[in-house]
Amino acid sequence: MKKNMPKKRCSFCGLSEDDVSMMIVGIDACICADCAERVYEALSDAMVFQKAGTQKKRKSTKAKAVPKPEEIKAFLDQYVIGQENAKKYLSVAVYNHYKRVEQNAVNVDDVEIEKSNIIIVGETGTGKTLLARTIAKMLNVPFTIVDATVLTEAGYVGEDVESILSRLLQSADYNVQAAEKGIVFIDEIDKIARKGDNPSITRDVSGEGVQQGLLKLLEGSIVNVPPRGGRKHPEQQFIEVNTKDILFICGGAFNDIDKIISRRLNSQAMGYRAVRDKENIDKENLLQYLIPSDLKTFGLIPEIVGRLPVSTYLLPLDRTALYRILTEPKNAIVKQYVRLFEMDGIKLEFEDSVLNYIVDKAIEFKLGARGLRSIFETVMVDAMYESPSKNHKEMHITLQYAKDRIDKLTVKLCVA
Ligand code: ADP
Repeated sequence: MKKNMPKKRCSFCGLSEDDVSMMIVGIDACICADCAERVYEALSDAMVFQKAGTQKKRKSTKAKAVPKPEEIKAFLDQYVIGQENAKKYLSVAVYNHYKRVEQNAVNVDDVEIEKSNIIIVGETGTGKTLLARTIAKMLNVPFTIVDATVLTEAGYVGEDVESILSRLLQSADYNVQAAEKGIVFIDEIDKIARKGDNPSITRDVSGEGVQQGLLKLLEGSIVNVPPRGGRKHPEQQFIEVNTKDILFICGGAFNDIDKIISRRLNSQAMGYRAVRDKENIDKENLLQYLIPSDLKTFGLIPEIVGRLPVSTYLLPLDRTALYRILTEPKNAIVKQYVRLFEMDGIKLEFEDSVLNYIVDKAIEFKLGARGLRSIFETVMVDAMYESPSKNHKEMHITLQYAKDRIDKLTVKLCVA
């Protein structure tokens, strides 16, 4: 029977059912899997454009009124421990940025306030992302985090720099006006540095190419953005995004930049005054002497450095800071666990020695602030598993209880 039936053909591309992976059959027409996929993509794009169009006509989503620098800092204090310099610089930069945006909106006079993109230098796990995230939470503006290491120059495998804006658009639910006042945190910016200060000898083309691409975004221009990110392709439609009022915060560990700073300080140290100054240098924390030319020496192109006029640093987290991170922030790990147990009607308590022990372990395993949660989780997993079924009203975590659990983790780490 089937033998004599005519072969079904896709009504869009004409291929026969033998040549396609799947054929969907309608009343009077058929569509193959490839054409169905293309239709799906076209429809999703069309919906995105429709959204972007209608959003543009609407008033922008209401960002909160911009708080004063001291208020911004007080808000950051609730979530970020220490890092006073960075918090102060960020507060001022964000405040100025939004004043600038407001001034441009009303266009009162011809004094043009320049954009104040920010660069934060500090070891990984010291709070760069946390700072950016907290600022965005406070201002209620679209916010996205991108990793500079996935970006590549057009033509290479990876993502185009424009994909940064695709993500910002997505987080603004395709409201272009809101996205145009958003915040982008570009992490690991140091990883796209060219290797060495001399471009002619050690030219790192892909790193430098990405920096050139980023420059366009940082300095403020109208960029054609592929709505769903990824690589641009010829038939694609774009959404125009003006980056003039987008605040870019870049972060990076810039490993060994302290050596660059130290070298510069040493070579500057000539004459009596310099010697006296040199004696006062805090050699433990050289990052505090960071100046833009150090970033250039590290391998950022001068134009990028010029577009990141505010630079600040984060200090490594010491024991005291780690202890405070466990207990003090508004969403401190200890507070989160107490709340989780409270929801089961259990009063959770820790001996102080437990918290000190967890901090010691985070230092011992070289896990920093990031490790606090996983160590905490290891200590608490049995209690969290058992306590909801028991009718306990209280749970008291002792040092011995914590040690028994962590010892198991230590064995795991030693075996791994
Ligand atoms: P970075 O971006 O510098 O690599 P993160 O901001 O992602 O580091 O920090 C990792 C985690 O460590 C954060 O989610 C936070 O829980 C904690 N943390 C790091 N630094 C601080 C800090 N200064 N105050 C409070 N928590 C911190």
